[in-house]
Amino acid sequence: MPKSKSRERGSILPIAALLAQRSRYATLWFGLFPAWWWSIIRPQTGSVPRTIYKDSNGGLSITSGFRVGLGEDTHRLGSPKPRSTGLLRLGGIDVPHDRSLIGHSDADVLLHAVTDALLGAAALPDIGQLFPNTDEANRDRDSAEMLTAAKVKVADAGYTVVNLDCVITAERPKLADYKDAICHRIASILQVNPHQIGLKVKTGEQVGPVGREEAIEARCVVLLSKHP
Ligand SMILES: [Zn+2]
Repeated sequence: MPKSKSRERGSILPIAALLAQRSRYATLWFGLFPAWWWSIIRPQTGSVPRTIYKDSNGGLSITSGFRVGLGEDTHRLGSPKPRSTGLLRLGGIDVPHDRSLIGHSDADVLLHAVTDALLGAAALPDIGQLFPNTDEANRDRDSAEMLTAAKVKVADAGYTVVNLDCVITAERPKLADYKDAICHRIASILQVNPHQIGLKVKTGEQVGPVGREEAIEARCVVLLSKHP
């Protein structure tokens, strides 16, 4: 006697129930898989760039809607070196200190890290290639000019800055009181909202080159979005 359709359907439910009862992994599979799959294949709406979509062949493709970049830099601390840009230029502002960062340009270690993060996210030549330290034109150069040039190149490549997160590691001077001013300065150079800039200041815990006040380090990650 042939099986009816209702009987076939009826035989699936007890099997699923048995699997769910026997294995917590099966429960997870039946419960979470549809939601995960839908989150990938659903159509994206609004201004959020589509990053993963189902292509015409039925596979999944990843677009280049977002790009992440990393920049880091270290400069030595040395004897005070009077410059037009101040004794210690950090994050685009002059910070009072009894020593200077040493470098061919104004040695703004944070703006150099931010510049490289931006350029790296767009796979463009890095700051050393664009502004070589063998070029006299770059001597004592204001790093804000380099960051501005990088921002223009990134915009020309079709990208907008989503956000930055930065870290300065310095034993001295204490930088907590300058965080807001630095975030506003970077936001002004990049023409973004200060809330798009994150900044943490750390010490070297009295160990290593930073802890011995021989150097200041900076790091930055940036997220870019392709212009709509
Ligand atoms: Zn540098």
